[in-house]
Amino acid sequence: MKSSTLFLALLALVSFAAAADKVGEVQQVAPGVYFHQGDIAKSGHCNHGWIVFKDYVLVVDANFPSGAQEIIPKIRKTTDKPIKFVFDTHHHGDHAYGNKVFADAGATVVAHEGVLASMKEHETGAFGGKPGRWEFAAKGRPDVKASKLHPPTLLFDKKKVFEDGQRSVELLHFGMAHTKGDGFAWLPKEKILFTGDACVNGPFNYVGDGDTAQWVKTLELAQKLGAETICPAHGPVGTKQVLIDQIAYFKAIRAEVAKLAGKKPEEAKAAAPAIRETLLKNAQIQRYVGQFIDSQIEKIFIEMGGEPFTPKTAARDVKFELPVVAARPAGPKAFFTADFK
Ligand SMILES: [Zn+2]
Repeated sequence: MKSSTLFLALLALVSFAAAADKVGEVQQVAPGVYFHQGDIAKSGHCNHGWIVFKDYVLVVDANFPSGAQEIIPKIRKTTDKPIKFVFDTHHHGDHAYGNKVFADAGATVVAHEGVLASMKEHETGAFGGKPGRWEFAAKGRPDVKASKLHPPTLLFDKKKVFEDGQRSVELLHFGMAHTKGDGFAWLPKEKILFTGDACVNGPFNYVGDGDTAQWVKTLELAQKLGAETICPAHGPVGTKQVLIDQIAYFKAIRAEVAKLAGKKPEEAKAAAPAIRETLLKNAQIQRYVGQFIDSQIEKIFIEMGGEPFTPKTAARDVKFELPVVAARPAGPKAFFTADFK
């Protein structure tokens, strides 16, 4: 084997290894920069990142309260610097419900202003109104039941930079994607991008609070940063290929749904299994095809001017409607009951 061929073969092995699941392990992705893949199947936990500055630690995503309680001792094993900031990449429970755990440990919660706006919209119970998503989640999660919503207090619009002369982390918002408040954490020197749920590495694209057309645009703007390492909020860490594949998935599913223009909802719904098969044949994106696909097809069909499916897709409102949760399709149970309540 020529040495260049051997090198390429080794490189392929390395990138394969980089994409392997390492749930529960602390991975150093650069000196002082860490990634931890949460156990979504068992606990509904998202991934964490943390960046060690000269005098403090900035954590990416607060997780559910149980995830926050799990990660803080793991962070403590890598540094004794205080956790001064926790960054919510968006408002969902598996990213923001652990805020109080971090706040109690002395951290300030930072987020795009859309995170607070979304909390005011959906967390009505915490803002003096009827029970909202928190109260719904508390029915199935003792960690949520035992805690309280702690909204972010340090908000940014487009960009907030943390800089101490040695290290720079930019929190960025490029527009709507998974939610209206998606934030990215970008390390320009190390070329590492923490993407929240705007870019995941596996079948985790819940689209109910997003807009897939804008989502693609937002990801293409993020792509211009030139990241070499992608730390997604669900699934393993990977190379820039993760972002390329995530964009390709949305483009492919949107192209398939576009072919259903003018169809009745029942005709569109009947086409879903064929779309699934088509996407599964595409090796680049097949890992994104999963339990949410019917709800993704329906959401995109609606975005493109179609009518909602009847009866509604089982996973469409799986996060927020008890009867629908009861009728959820087969899949990792904790993913539905924990991640998305
Ligand atoms: Zn998530």
